[in-house]
Amino acid sequence: IIELGTPERSVITTCAYCGVGCSFKAELNGDDLVRMVPYKHGKANRGHSCVKGRFAYGYATHSDRILNPMIRDSVDQPWQEVSWDEALRFAADRMRRLQEKYGRRSIGVITSSRCTNEETYLVQKLARGVFMNNNTDTCARVCHSPTGYGLGQTFGTSAGTQDFDSVEHTDVVIVIGANPTDGHPVFASRLKKRLRQGAKLIVIDPRRIDLVKSAHIAASHHLPLRPGTNVAVVSALSHVIVTEGLMDEAYIRERCDWDEFQDYADFISDPRHSPEATELLTGVPSQDLRAAARLFATGGKGSIYYGLGVTEHSQGSTTVIAIANLAMLTGNIGRKGVGVNPLRGQNNVQGACDMGSFPHELPGYRHVKGPEVREIFEKAWGVTIDPEPGLRIPNMLDAAVEGTFKGLYCQGEDILQSDPDTHHVAAGLAAMECVIVHDLFLNETANYAHVFLPGSTFLEKDGTFTNAERRINRVRKVMAPRNGYGDWEVTQLLANAMGANWHYTHPTQIMDEIAATTPSFAGVSYEVLEEKGSVQWPCNEEHPDGTPLMHVDGFMRGKGRFIVTEYVATDEKTGPRFPLLLTTGRILSQYNVGAQTRRTANVAWHDQDVLEIHPHDAEVRGVNDGDFIRLASRAGETALRAKITDRVSPGVVYTTFHHPDTQANVITTDFSDWATNCPEYKVTAVQVSPSNGP
Ligand code: SF4
Repeated sequence: IIELGTPERSVITTCAYCGVGCSFKAELNGDDLVRMVPYKHGKANRGHSCVKGRFAYGYATHSDRILNPMIRDSVDQPWQEVSWDEALRFAADRMRRLQEKYGRRSIGVITSSRCTNEETYLVQKLARGVFMNNNTDTCARVCHSPTGYGLGQTFGTSAGTQDFDSVEHTDVVIVIGANPTDGHPVFASRLKKRLRQGAKLIVIDPRRIDLVKSAHIAASHHLPLRPGTNVAVVSALSHVIVTEGLMDEAYIRERCDWDEFQDYADFISDPRHSPEATELLTGVPSQDLRAAARLFATGGKGSIYYGLGVTEHSQGSTTVIAIANLAMLTGNIGRKGVGVNPLRGQNNVQGACDMGSFPHELPGYRHVKGPEVREIFEKAWGVTIDPEPGLRIPNMLDAAVEGTFKGLYCQGEDILQSDPDTHHVAAGLAAMECVIVHDLFLNETANYAHVFLPGSTFLEKDGTFTNAERRINRVRKVMAPRNGYGDWEVTQLLANAMGANWHYTHPTQIMDEIAATTPSFAGVSYEVLEEKGSVQWPCNEEHPDGTPLMHVDGFMRGKGRFIVTEYVATDEKTGPRFPLLLTTGRILSQYNVGAQTRRTANVAWHDQDVLEIHPHDAEVRGVNDGDFIRLASRAGETALRAKITDRVSPGVVYTTFHHPDTQANVITTDFSDWATNCPEYKVTAVQVSPSNGP
C-alpha cells in the first residue's frame, strides 16, 4: 500500500486514451500529480475507469520527452537545439519557399485525434487560411473515415446515434468488429451489466472475444466470419429479415425513402444473399445467420456497436452502410435503447472529424465545394478558401514520391508507425524537403523530420475532447506545459511566422469561433460546459441542452436512405505461399502504437505483442506455445512469439500492434477502403513458420 496523503488540490479533466471519454479528478500535491481518480459526476463514466486512464499518465513526465525545439538542414545531420523563435522561423521560411518553388498545394498538414477540438480546428485553419489549400487530414483516415462516409450517406451525419446511457435500455445488441472489453472497457462494463439483466447479444467477429463467453455472460450467437466478409454477413441478416417479412414496414414507410427501400428489398432478397450462399463465403453456419437475424428483428429494442473490425477493410464504408440498412430495416434508430454506434478508438476521433480535418470538409461536415459554406469561413478568417478538395494522407505520400508534395506539418501523429505499408510511408517522407514533427517524443516519423516542435500532454492542455457519443468534455490544464507552449499556441506561432495575424489568447476564443461558424456547435461555449458539465452536439438554439439521441423526429438528411451493398471480395488473397489470414486488435493495458502506455511503468506488464494461432495450424507448422515464429506476408516480415489458442479459428491468426519491434505494419498491405482510403489493416494473407528470434 502506497500512502499518497491528502491531495492539496484537484482538477477535473478528461482521459487521454479511448473514445469513451471518462472524466477524472487529477489530484496534486504541489505540482506533482499523485493520482487520477475517476470522477463520479462524469457523464460518460459515472465514477468508473480502466487501467489506462487511471494509471497510464507517467509518460507526461517521462525522460524521453523532448522539451526544446530542434532543427536540422537534412535528415542525415544531427539535431540542433534552438529557441522556439528560431525553430518557427526556420520552419516557416522552408514552407514558404516550397510554396514559391512548387506551388500553393505542395505542402499540407496532418492532425491527431489525441489533440483537442481547438487544436485540430487551428491546424485545419492553418492549411486553409495560411497555406491556402485543403491539404489537411487526420489519423481518422486510418480508423473511422468509413464511418464518416457510411453514416453520412445513409443518415445524414457522421456520428453515433445513441448516448452510452441508452445501452441500459436495449434488448438485443450486435457487437461487430469490436472488442469493447479491451478497447472500450468502461462502455463494456455498462454493456455487460445490461447483458446480465437479460439483454441478448450477437457477436460478429473472427475471434472469440471475451464477450462471447465470460463471467455470467454468454452471447446468444457468435458468428466467427472469415476476415474480410463483413458485408456478406450483414447482408445475409438483412436478407432473412426482408424475405421472412420481419422488417418494420411502418417505420420504413414513415422515416425512410420508400422507393429506395423497394430497390434495396429487391436487391437483398436475391438468393446470393441467403444464409446458405453466405455460409460458403464467410464460413458462418447458415442456421446461425438465420437465427441471429430473427433474434435481432424480433428481440425488442436493437443496438449495433462496431469498431475498426468494420472500418479497416477494402469494403469498410460498404459495411457501415450495410449496418445502417439493418438498423433502418428493423426500426432501430431514433429512440432510447436503439441505434448505430461507432466505438471510436481515440479520445477525440469524433472531434477531429467534426472540426474539418478532412481535405473535403470544412468544420461541421460541410463540403468545401459549397460557396455558401466557404463564405462563412472566408468572412470569419479574412481569406479566400480554395474550392478544390485537398489530398488525403495516402495521396500526400504518393504525391511526395512523385515529386509534387514537398512539405508536411504533422501534429501528434506517428505516421511511419501507424500507417500501412511502412516502406511507402518512409519513401514519401524521405522525398519531402520539409517535415515538421510536433510531438511529445522523437517518434519514428521524426527520423525523416527537419524540424521538431515539442508537444504538450493532455495534462498540460486547456480545451475539449468529443467522445464517441458526441459528448463535448472539458480538458483542463493540470500543470503548465513543460515544453513552454500549448499545442494551439505552437500552431498559432507557426501561422503567424508564415504571415498570419492570429491573436487568440485562450482556447475559449477558439471554441467561440467554432460556435460562430458551425451550426451543430452554435450553443457550445466554455461557460455552457462549466454549467452543464458536458453537452452532446448538436447543441444550439433548437437543442440548448444538447442531443443525447439523434434522428428522433427524422433523419438529419430528411428521409433515411437505403443503399445496396454488394459484397466484393478483397484483392488480398490467400494461396499456397500465404495460406493464413492475419487480423489485428489491441489489449486492455496498451494503447495503439504504445507511445504513451509503454512509457508508464504501471501498465507495462505486457511487454510484447504475440501471435495467436489455432492449435491445428500451429501443429502442422511445428510451432509450440511461446516459440518465436516468422510472420511473413507479400509486403514484408517480422518475428514474434506464438500463443496457441482456439480463440481464433483454423486459418486465422491474430496479433496486436503496440510495440515498435513487432512492426505489424511492415506486414500489412496497401489495399484500402474504396470510398475513403482507410487502410485494410484487418485482412492480410500471411505464412507462419518457426524462427530463432527477431
Ligand atoms: Fe480512458 Fe477509455 Fe479507459 Fe475510460 S475506458 S479510462 S476513456 S481508456
